[in-house]
Amino acid sequence: MTDVRIDDLPIRDELRGKSPYGAPQLDVPVRLNTNENPYPLPEPLVERIAERVREAARHLNRYPDRDAVELRAGLARYLTRTTGHEVDTSRVWAANGSNEVLQQLLQTFGGPGRTALGFEPSYSMHGLISRGTGTGWISGPRRDDFGIDVAAASAAIAEHRPDVVFITSPNNPTGTAVDADTVLALHDAAQAAKPSLVVVDEAYVEFSHRPSLLPLIEGRPHLVVSRTMSKAFGAAGLRLGYLAAHPAVVDAVQLVRLPYHLSAVTQATALAALEHTDTLLGYVEHLKAERDRLVTELRALGYEVTDSDANFVQFGRFEDAHAAWRGILDRGVLVRDNGVPGWLRVTAGTPQENDAFLDAVRALRKEQS
Ligand code: PMP
Repeated sequence: MTDVRIDDLPIRDELRGKSPYGAPQLDVPVRLNTNENPYPLPEPLVERIAERVREAARHLNRYPDRDAVELRAGLARYLTRTTGHEVDTSRVWAANGSNEVLQQLLQTFGGPGRTALGFEPSYSMHGLISRGTGTGWISGPRRDDFGIDVAAASAAIAEHRPDVVFITSPNNPTGTAVDADTVLALHDAAQAAKPSLVVVDEAYVEFSHRPSLLPLIEGRPHLVVSRTMSKAFGAAGLRLGYLAAHPAVVDAVQLVRLPYHLSAVTQATALAALEHTDTLLGYVEHLKAERDRLVTELRALGYEVTDSDANFVQFGRFEDAHAAWRGILDRGVLVRDNGVPGWLRVTAGTPQENDAFLDAVRALRKEQS
């Protein structure tokens, strides 16, 4: 039998020659490459999850709550409490990770014959999910310091008239956050070019020095904020993302969501995690301090470091970033080469993991000097 490769299959043309998203999952002592939270869930929360899941298991013969109302109400309370902006259940939608939230948005507002635009370098899944939903992808500009230049960004929107605009704040992989005025200017540019959906991806916002941009959804039915429990809640394995927007957007994504997309087990687990918000946000404070320490120490070592509002830090510059990535890996620490020429990204881990990383880059620096 001859080997059949992907491109031998009758797949859609736009998927030909593409690679799946994937950071290497290597078995090394210190893994600081996927922006996970290094702290396992606290034991009382693990117990609470077990209790809630046990109760849910008694009803697994039935489909789950299709509209996930109790969970959305809990997420709305969390958003109201942490942003000071009143959000109710009708403005919140949840799915399996914010990747699925973004996919549902693109299935609803993008699709064949439509385009989405993001300011790169940014989260590569925005482009990949766009392609996966048949949406054309347009790469918009960033400044050399990785901030967004409002005039250049608005000009790109005016030129391409995208149907969906992504603003990632804090941005992955650079850590850069944008201010409310920038979002408002880009939102206005996007509405002037074509009424389009503006998606503010706030996956890392709990780690930011700046407040959430969520209050901007008020009175702007084309502005959506997407969030996740993967980072601040330390629950990447749970797969729970959510959005806040005008209730009409929440109604619209239900046109494309699969029925019963959020399992009863997922809903029960996420509800348990929300009960422990305060403890989990305590870990976020530790991680913010560790993130700031990484910035300071990397700069002291002579590296260039992009200001970070996330739980990771972009550092460089390397003549050959991939060789530097390999040099750090050889010392037992896995960081991320996102393909931004000259730069690498390290996730803030526990103090011990961060020390191991700093030892590795110190040794690398010595070897190179
Ligand atoms: N948005 C951004 C900017 C991200 O970096 C990530 C994860 N790396 C996601 C969304 C998706 O996260 P999840 O699907 O785990 O919620």
